[in-house]
Amino acid sequence: MARKFFVGGNFKMNGTKESIKSIIENLNKASLDPNVEVVIAPPALYLQLARDTVDKASGVEVAAQNVYHKPNGAYTGEISVAQLKDSDIHWTILGHSERRTLLGETDELVASKTKAAVEGGVSVIWCCGESLEEREAGNTVAVVERQLAALAAKLSAADWKKIVIAYEPIWAIGTGKVATVQQAQEVHEAIRKWLRTQFGDAVADETRILYGGSVNGKNCKDLAKEKDIDGFLVGGASLKPEFVDIINSNQ
Ligand code: PEP
Repeated sequence: MARKFFVGGNFKMNGTKESIKSIIENLNKASLDPNVEVVIAPPALYLQLARDTVDKASGVEVAAQNVYHKPNGAYTGEISVAQLKDSDIHWTILGHSERRTLLGETDELVASKTKAAVEGGVSVIWCCGESLEEREAGNTVAVVERQLAALAAKLSAADWKKIVIAYEPIWAIGTGKVATVQQAQEVHEAIRKWLRTQFGDAVADETRILYGGSVNGKNCKDLAKEKDIDGFLVGGASLKPEFVDIINSNQ
């Protein structure tokens, strides 16, 4: 079964009302490959602005950058899955390395959040990836498998229909140091193999695995050709006009 190419834009803690509107208006005007699923993730404060600015005909969806796993209550600063749905937001990023490393999110917390999102009907761009030290020690696949195993402990095979995996080596995020096509494909292949062993052929063949880490308008085409690379999660370049070239990189 062919997997629909997927491109996510992670705006991180960037933008103003004006700049976010302008990025989305550019997307509305652009000619986007209709065979690509596009999801943009502005800061939480601008989710509704983004949702209202996106041209519905473009098919572009809006995602949160985070969501909490508890349904409601005394969790200052957090947003629940139900609140996202109430605001017509049907996607979230979870487990981004910046949240894991800067905010101390553990594999288990990320897994709990992912389960809560999926159960509540919000799809997840679930991120994983190794540090430079872990890569240099030859532990890349072991680290990614550890992150996946924490997630797998909470999920059923059916849950994977609402999850897209983003493999994002930490050393490549925001550094301008993109993984080589071979490095990325190797880890994507290992992730797909792991999915096959743990959850069977359907999950392995249907789950999209994105690459993230310094993707830009120049390096995207070669990465997009690899058989296990089903799209991208893009940080810095999603704020620039070249995001359109990345969306259209699979043409
Ligand atoms: C990201 O934040 O998910 C990311 C991949 O960032 P960048 O494209 O800037 O490396």
